[in-house]
Amino acid sequence: MRFDILTLFPEMFVGFMESSIIRKAREKGLIETRLVNFRDYATDRHRTVDDTPYGGGGGMVLKPEPIFAAVEDLLKDLPKKPPILLMSPQGEPFTQKKAEELAQHDHLVLICGHYEGFDERIRTHLATGEISIGDYVLTGGELPAMVVVDSVSRLIPGVLGNQSSAVDDSFSTSLLEYPQYTRPVDFRGWKVPDILLSGHHAKIERWRRQESLRRTWERRPDLLENAPLSDEDREFLRKLGSGEPDG
Ligand code: SAM
Repeated sequence: MRFDILTLFPEMFVGFMESSIIRKAREKGLIETRLVNFRDYATDRHRTVDDTPYGGGGGMVLKPEPIFAAVEDLLKDLPKKPPILLMSPQGEPFTQKKAEELAQHDHLVLICGHYEGFDERIRTHLATGEISIGDYVLTGGELPAMVVVDSVSRLIPGVLGNQSSAVDDSFSTSLLEYPQYTRPVDFRGWKVPDILLSGHHAKIERWRRQESLRRTWERRPDLLENAPLSDEDREFLRKLGSGEPDG
């Protein structure tokens, strides 16, 4: 998977790309990350990338020319156009499902805004999509781009040491993940549930499924509306809702 990231602040990505799982994925050649400073594509003496908004008002708007030139340069020898995604608080809300969809591609172009954002023609004539990482406004698209790179990368086979850890993650199953425990069995009198020590795999799976349902029901009941549920799941949720034992 190749990520081309257009940004005015490439230095913000250094720690992210040089650490932990993303670093290993890059070293193994599973992902390739290229940082493009679109200021390099500004043609005037001052290398201007922004200007005041037509119609007045505060702040500066990113000009179309350097961003179009940077993307066109990236794409010039490519047989197929990759998704070109603007980081934007007005974009499609970013979800695990969207990360899974993006992980099907082998190349993504991510464009980080700054200041007051993008000239509208970048949205309408260059981008193929817009992504928002939440209903709040950040100073720039760099953190959102890192969020996208991170969440998509960990879905690429080989990036995580144990691929099954991504399969059970919250949202991957449309539910929140079940509680996890590790050693010691007894920490300050708080014990690991006996079932997890039983070695009985089928019972452990059932417990995990039920705890996953319970946690989702408690914290994010909205997710249950679209989750694929078995008859047994529905019965468990019915008991939870009515406060019956076993629920
Ligand atoms: N004036 C813009 C608006 O109201 O939509 C906000 C611009 S924001 C200060 C600057 C840049 O940060 C945006 O162009 C975008 O790239 C990025 N950004 C801010 N919040 C974001 C979010 N929640 N998700 C994705 N990108 C965001």
